Amino acid sequence: MVTVTLLGTAATMPLPDRALTTALLSWGGRSLLFDCGEGTQAAAMKAGVSLSRLEAICLTHYHGDHVFGLPGLLQTIACQGRTAPLLLTGPKGLEQFWAVMRLLAGPLPYQILLADALEQPLWFEGGAELSAIPTKHRVPSQGYCFHLPRAGRFDPDRARALGVDVRDWKRLQRGETVNGVAPEQVCGPARRGIKVIFSGDTAPCPTLEEAARDADLLICDATYDQEELAPEAARYGHSTFRQSAELAARAGARRLWLAHYSPRIKEPEASLPLARAVFPAAECGFDGKSISLRFEEG
Ligand SMILES: [Zn+2]
Ligand SMILES: [Zn+2]
Repeated sequence: MVTVTLLGTAATMPLPDRALTTALLSWGGRSLLFDCGEGTQAAAMKAGVSLSRLEAICLTHYHGDHVFGLPGLLQTIACQGRTAPLLLTGPKGLEQFWAVMRLLAGPLPYQILLADALEQPLWFEGGAELSAIPTKHRVPSQGYCFHLPRAGRFDPDRARALGVDVRDWKRLQRGETVNGVAPEQVCGPARRGIKVIFSGDTAPCPTLEEAARDADLLICDATYDQEELAPEAARYGHSTFRQSAELAARAGARRLWLAHYSPRIKEPEASLPLARAVFPAAECGFDGKSISLRFEEG
C-alpha cells in the first residue's frame, strides 16, 4: 500500500488555510517528502503524519516557495535523535544549494547524502524506485516518479515440483534465488504495481506526460485556473487547470490532483469544471488530502 498526503497546495506564499505545495508519500514504514516549503512541519502535524522516518527529501527546484522549510525540518529531525543518513535529491545545482542550506541547518548528527535521481534512479527496500523527470520551468527543475513494483503470482505447485522447501518460499517471492531456483521459475510475469507522479512547477511537457502514463496518481501544477491566463502560465513555466487535465487525459493517468494554486485562486473547487471537462477524474488537491493506493485485485 502507498499512502500519499498533501501537506500544502499553495504557490508563491502561504495562506492561512493553505501551506506551500509539499507532499508526503509513505509505504512499508518508509517515506519520501516532495519539496519542503515554509510551514511543512506544522502542516504535517495538522495532517497527522510523521516526518521522522524519511528516506529522502526530493526537491523539484530551488525556488523559495519549495525549499524554505528545509533547514528547520533538518533541525527538528536532529532533535528527534536521527543518526541514519538522509538522502537529498534535486535538479542541477544541488551542491551549491546544499552549501547554503547546511550553514542554516547547523551541525547535524546524521549525514546528508546528495543524490542525482535524474542520472540514476534511487532504489529502496522492497524494490521501490524513485526517478526524476525533466520538467519545464524557469530554472532547472524536475518532477518525480515513484514506482512500487509487484512481483508475479507465486506458483506453489511449481515450487514443490522443483523441491523448494516451504520455509524458503518467502525468499523466492522477495526475488531471491534459493538453491539454484530462480524467482522467474516459480513466479508468473510481474503484475501492475503502483505509480505516483509529483510534477513540481512546470508547463506541460512530453517528459511529464510520458512518466504519467497509466499512473495511479498524478499531482500536477495547476497555478492558474482560467484558460485566458495560459500565456502567463507559459511565461512563468506553469500550467492551467485545463492543461494539467489534458496532460492527465493524454497520459491515461487514473487520478489527477491539482495543486500549487496561485494566491489569486480563492476557491479551487469553483474552477474544477475547467479540468473535469477534459479529465472527469480530476480533483482539487487541498491541504491534508490523503489517499491509500493498493495493488489491484488479482
Ligand atoms: Zn512554486
Ligand atoms: Zn517555481
